[in-house]
Amino acid sequence: PPEPAPPPAAPKRAKATPGLTNPDRVLWPATEHSPALTKADLAAYFTRFADHILEHVAGRPLSLLRAPDGISEELFFQRHAMNGQSPLIGAVTIAGQARPYMRIDDAAGLLALAQISAVELHPWGALADTPEVPERLVFDLDPDEGVGFDRVLDGARALRERLRAIGLTPFARVTGGKGLHLVVPLAPPKRGESPDWKAAKAFARLVCEMLRRDEPDRYTTTLAKKARKGRIFLDYLRNDRLSTAVASWSPRGRPGAPVARPIPWSAVKKGLDPAGWRLADLMQGKLPADPWADFNEAAGSLRDAMTRLAGKD
Ligand code: ATP
Ligand code: MN
Ligand code: MN
Repeated sequence: PPEPAPPPAAPKRAKATPGLTNPDRVLWPATEHSPALTKADLAAYFTRFADHILEHVAGRPLSLLRAPDGISEELFFQRHAMNGQSPLIGAVTIAGQARPYMRIDDAAGLLALAQISAVELHPWGALADTPEVPERLVFDLDPDEGVGFDRVLDGARALRERLRAIGLTPFARVTGGKGLHLVVPLAPPKRGESPDWKAAKAFARLVCEMLRRDEPDRYTTTLAKKARKGRIFLDYLRNDRLSTAVASWSPRGRPGAPVARPIPWSAVKKGLDPAGWRLADLMQGKLPADPWADFNEAAGSLRDAMTRLAGKD
């Protein structure tokens, strides 16, 4: 049998963080790939990656996956602001919704999230000031058990080509779980245009259905587990008012603390592991450059893409 791998190095101890209680509380127990990680480690990670994380999280309504007693105990998904929460976590009022949502805007806000053991960050696809305007689309590729990751790579490339053909520029991210996301930046609607979430969702669904029609053995657009058998579910449902997707650079509340990591298209190839980057690894060495540096400049028009898609059908 192969030699057991040496135990992973413990991350550098974080300096005391102001306002962080129980810094030594373990959020992620040790695994064969990762040392145990504490609240202080989460705070240190948020501090190191603050610019990268805030680029796609600041100023957006934000849901949280919280693990007050660590990921082996009960996790809960928090959508709404709570009474008594840190003033560093802002409130967002949404028309038609009684209870306010949350937002953060800076590194201090991120530390307030570490303090409440927010192990995953899930922003909306819109800015807090314009929640009705889709600012990005997320195509979430969810392979059924047993579907090889090569198939997911094929799906990502096929979807990329379809989107590029109608003037949109998708960016890739591994989720830290089983799949991959394609994230599409959208330009603000021009004067007189009003693409809204209803249109955005219908558009995302149509694109996914075109892929499914070409290769029905490989893809499904039906949420039901039964339809997924041996296929990839093209989850277009992330694209809606009040819908969320995990943020780039967010850790995941899963064993070993994998991170949802944005990647360049050159990395979307054989050997890619969707859970291959872990928080502890990312604390070592040089801070990685953001592979989505061109995200904002690449924003495309949803209205134009809809027109082009209609022309192709
Ligand atoms: P994977 O690659 O393993 O699929 P993922 O992040 O895409 O990882 P999904 O299960 O496909 O995970 O998507 C779940 C999405 O649903 C999350 O991204 C999250 O934003 C959203 N969500 C909505 N409600 C909840 C909830 N109660 N708990 C967890 N996620 C929720
Ligand atoms: Mn998914
Ligand atoms: Mn999904």
